[in-house]
Amino acid sequence: MTEIHQTDICVIGAGPAGLFAVFQLGLVDLRCHVIEALDRPGGQLTALYPDKPIYDMPGFRVIDGQPLADRLMDQISPFETRFHWGRQAISIARAEPQEGLPLGGWQVGMKDGGAVLSKVAVMATGGGILGYGRTQAAPPGTDTFFQTDSGLIPTDTGAFQTATSGIFAIGDGCVYPGKLKLILSAFHEAALMAQAAFAICHPQKRLKSQYTTSSSELQRRLGVRGAD
Ligand SMILES: Cc1cc2nc3c(=O)[nH]c(=O)nc-3n(C[C@H](O)[C@H](O)[C@H](O)COP(=O)(O)OP(=O)(O)OC[C@H]3O[C@@H](n4cnc5c(N)ncnc54)[C@H](O)[C@@H]3O)c2cc1C
Repeated sequence: MTEIHQTDICVIGAGPAGLFAVFQLGLVDLRCHVIEALDRPGGQLTALYPDKPIYDMPGFRVIDGQPLADRLMDQISPFETRFHWGRQAISIARAEPQEGLPLGGWQVGMKDGGAVLSKVAVMATGGGILGYGRTQAAPPGTDTFFQTDSGLIPTDTGAFQTATSGIFAIGDGCVYPGKLKLILSAFHEAALMAQAAFAICHPQKRLKSQYTTSSSELQRRLGVRGAD
């Protein structure tokens, strides 16, 4: 039987953009499934330069690729995240409203079968440097998702939403005026995307602005001891 999963957010790609997206989405209490073509997290960090020093990570004078990926995974450990390792996302099509998905959403198809149904889809697929990143159009008649000839996905700069409402793109795979293919840019994009994703998932609710330093609600989500 074909496996169909259901969640709030389907993140495609477990590079630094996808991993930090899970963190930001977890802070606003949204659950994620992550589809990753490789068998491990980190994207370029672990596939291309695990032992190379990175000198421009905020807060670190120097950190290698592998330990940065490990820290990103550790940071999202408080959240219930389902990873689909070694699975390539090959299509995104509109999902009709149904139980658990009252407003409809997206069906992300995986190579070799199976799909993730979600309210929001986030493309964190990188710039194609690892050989993946091109997501095929869905069958005619459905809403489809398109990339440019360069393989990069145009977004706005307020929420990093694509031309299709409910589909976001962050990290090296997105393009907008002034885009820098840097990890810190991906982190910023993930933070703004999460706010907009919350609004789609909870149209009746208003997101409060909160700091992790002082919000017991956020600290509870993060599993901070004594947060209550
Ligand atoms: C040698 C080198 C040194 C670098 N040094 C620095 C530096 O010092 N500082 C800095 O800020 N940046 C540096 N970068 C750039 C940095 O690595 C990238 O900006 C960053 O990795 C982008 O993160 P990402 O998550 O967007 O993409 P990626 O890291 O490319 O991750 C994307 C992930 O998505 C997966 N994926 C793609 N398509 C699919 C699909 N269809 N289905 C499932 N999975 C999919 C890929 O397998 C991959 O794991 C360097 C890059 C290189 C190559």
